[in-house]
Amino acid sequence: MSATETQKKQGKIQVQTDNIFPIIKKFLYSDNEIFLRELVSNAVDAIQKIKVLSSAGEFKGEIGDAKVSVSIDKEAKTLTISDHGVGMTSEEIEKYLNQVAFSGAREFLEKYKGVEDKQTIIGHFGLGFYSAFMVSEQVEVISKSWQEPDKAHRWICDGSPEYSLEPAERSERGTDIVLHISEENKEFLENERIKHILEKYGRFLPVPVFFEDAQINTTDPAWTKAPADLSQEDYANFYKELYPGSYEEPLFHIHLNVDYPFNLTGILYFPRITDSFDLQKKKISLYSNQVFITDAVEGVVPEFLTMLHGVLDSPDIPLNVSRSYLQADSNVRKISGHITKKVADKLESWFKDDREGFESKWEDIKLFVQYGTVTETKFADRSASFSLIKNTEDVFKPLEDWKEELKDMQTDKDGQLVMLYSAQPEVDHAFIERAKERGYTVFHMHSPIEAHYIGYLESKHEKLRFVRVDSDSPEKLIDKGIEVPAKLNEEEQKQIAELFEQAKGETTQLTVKLENLSENDPPVVITEPEFMRRMQEMQQPGSRNEAFRMHTAVINGNHPLMKRLLLQAEEGRQKEVAQQALDLALLSKGLLKGEAMTRFMQRSVDLLH
Ligand code: ADP
Repeated sequence: MSATETQKKQGKIQVQTDNIFPIIKKFLYSDNEIFLRELVSNAVDAIQKIKVLSSAGEFKGEIGDAKVSVSIDKEAKTLTISDHGVGMTSEEIEKYLNQVAFSGAREFLEKYKGVEDKQTIIGHFGLGFYSAFMVSEQVEVISKSWQEPDKAHRWICDGSPEYSLEPAERSERGTDIVLHISEENKEFLENERIKHILEKYGRFLPVPVFFEDAQINTTDPAWTKAPADLSQEDYANFYKELYPGSYEEPLFHIHLNVDYPFNLTGILYFPRITDSFDLQKKKISLYSNQVFITDAVEGVVPEFLTMLHGVLDSPDIPLNVSRSYLQADSNVRKISGHITKKVADKLESWFKDDREGFESKWEDIKLFVQYGTVTETKFADRSASFSLIKNTEDVFKPLEDWKEELKDMQTDKDGQLVMLYSAQPEVDHAFIERAKERGYTVFHMHSPIEAHYIGYLESKHEKLRFVRVDSDSPEKLIDKGIEVPAKLNEEEQKQIAELFEQAKGETTQLTVKLENLSENDPPVVITEPEFMRRMQEMQQPGSRNEAFRMHTAVINGNHPLMKRLLLQAEEGRQKEVAQQALDLALLSKGLLKGEAMTRFMQRSVDLLH
């Protein structure tokens, strides 16, 4: 042994400025618990590396117990991460641990590119090891390299650029990272805390990780396997493993497996999404080579895909960078585009291969598809073929098919194809019946973002307009320019209009308008202009607050009641009947409230005498 190898060595870490350590310590990671993720990842890498060296024939010894152990010594106030991996020589310690931002892993990958193949090596975090100083007053590294089976070294550093390196004892190959946890970080000496962090970041690490004699991870999660090797049950079980306690099964899944031009694996699950409460309950988790990174995937995938559940794993997503940087990264953009395409492929093939099954689940995926269509052009281009619209008879078709089918019946005098719809067929029953009598089809459209979706469709299709079935009188819904002859003369029409104007009273949200409808239509119809309602719903999606909305009372001049009203000699009685007819119409729309309702009830009882 030479003198330098037996003697303790004092040294100074080569960094640009002396104060880089406090900077790293404070600002590198906002979330200090990730030091454990970094150190355990390094330990896992060290084990993966010895396996690679062994299969390349360079390392000829026994791999031994290929695991990582984490332990706490409360008395010594230390947290230790031990591995039986490649270990480090004193030169490597100096090189790797003393040179900030020098990634040994990167160098290793360069050297063993061909051999490394599908083996998983995590070390792309760059400054990972130094995160140890975020929680420690001193870090000790005791390591024995596979290259020097009879020499071990101890490196000690307190976070300043000063360090010491000396010979040490270690029976087996591998590395112990001993963290002397600082007083303000003593939470990291609590078993529960450590267990929680390990489970959070390490539950799918590729090498067994032990804490308190128990293995905390599954080393071969479903997404790392080939789809051909997995059954439906395997996918369902993996979903349960990801989200324990979830009572609902996902509708279907997509297994992603790409290795060119970027690496991406993962399984995405489609949950049932029927209202906004279903959103964001569970999340997609982002992994990098089986290390959990985050479940805030906004920026990595298009927003509408964050409604999905599951796992994405890609070493090509830059980590520890800002969201805005992520969005600008070309890999991330490619990945996001790829996922969008896969999701569209899946939906399209489902629609083509099993239309019945697709239709039966349509209500559960509709919100997702519509949201994707409205927010993501790439998805919108694809979704047109499988995005369905249902009519009140539960017939589902893509818009193009409906357009073809309805164009003869529902084109108005200006050449616009008018699509009628109802959000609540129960409530709009009478309107729907009147539309059907005229040979029209009424859609049932009721998702929370329907107004946006309809707006989108109208912007994409020329001469196409959607109107609610109660947005105008039945004759005017689709205005074909045909005037229904009037049964009343002008003077009579004026009288009737005045009568109902009086009945309306002070209500400012109601406009009275006389029209000549069919005599089979009701005497009074309450309508709500499409434009106004849509504005309202865009501002307050899902709100049923009618209080501030404008309605029109369309008085049917051709209804036989009008003639009878004019013949009614007694003025009081005349007013009463007009009021009753108006109130009935309001009542049918749920708009009769308070005092008006009480008076209506009383009047109705009186009429029974
Ligand atoms: P990165 O992991 O991104 O390369 P780190 O700062 O975490 O950066 O680690 C620097 C280098 O130190 C690693 O690449 C590796 O060569 C070496 N190293 C760290 N921990 C271990 C370990 N437990 N066993 C062997 N080598 C290690």
